Amino acid sequence: MSTNGVPVPPPQPSLLKTTASSNGTVPPSVFTLPQTAQLEALYTIIRDKDTSRGDFLFYSDRIIRLLVEEGLNHLPVVKKTVTTPTGSTYVGVGFEGKICGVSILRAGEAMEAGLREVCRSVRIGKILIQRDEETMQPKLFYSKFPQDIAKRYVLLLDPMLATGGSAIKAVDVLMENGVPEDRIIFINLISSPEGLRTFSEKFPRLKVITGWIDQGLNEKAYIIPGLGDFGERRYCE
Ligand code: URA
Repeated sequence: MSTNGVPVPPPQPSLLKTTASSNGTVPPSVFTLPQTAQLEALYTIIRDKDTSRGDFLFYSDRIIRLLVEEGLNHLPVVKKTVTTPTGSTYVGVGFEGKICGVSILRAGEAMEAGLREVCRSVRIGKILIQRDEETMQPKLFYSKFPQDIAKRYVLLLDPMLATGGSAIKAVDVLMENGVPEDRIIFINLISSPEGLRTFSEKFPRLKVITGWIDQGLNEKAYIIPGLGDFGERRYCE
């Protein structure tokens, strides 16, 4: 590992930097990826304003895959017995229940491929939330869900948790469609401490998987240090 060409020793696991929200505590329903040097290197690439679109796609996809794998770790399993090619019996586990993804448009769509790579032929719903110009509140503009969504575990996908307004509205809509709070897992790449706090106070039984918790929000509600507008970085040259 090197910093601008100057070699630095790899950090020891016990000394790895851990992130916390601005008051130093992470709500109990929030899980971050292990804050390894490798993960921080991926984030350093995607945060860099000079990173090319191709590299942004490649490295954000790597993080998304890690996040989806971590999300799946939180799904329940049941005992499952199989016979191996040696004729032995192996008592293991299998996933219980069906899942689906729901992406919050448009940036959340960028996470769909990562979910499909890990869960072949997974059903994916979509939800479009924008600010109502009159009330300034998040408003539902469009949603399309698998018809049996109320019976599924839902992985809710949105890369940036800033104020939490869109994510809260999305969960409200999912719950109106019969999905219980504790069957939703919200997956994002970067969270603001204030967004996490607002979201997890409203939905304490809903697990949040985030890759990194940043410092806060600026006056335009961008996450700081953040990576700018995720959709623009991902979709625009
Ligand atoms: N959405 C983004 O794309 N970036 C932010 O910093 C906040 C919300």
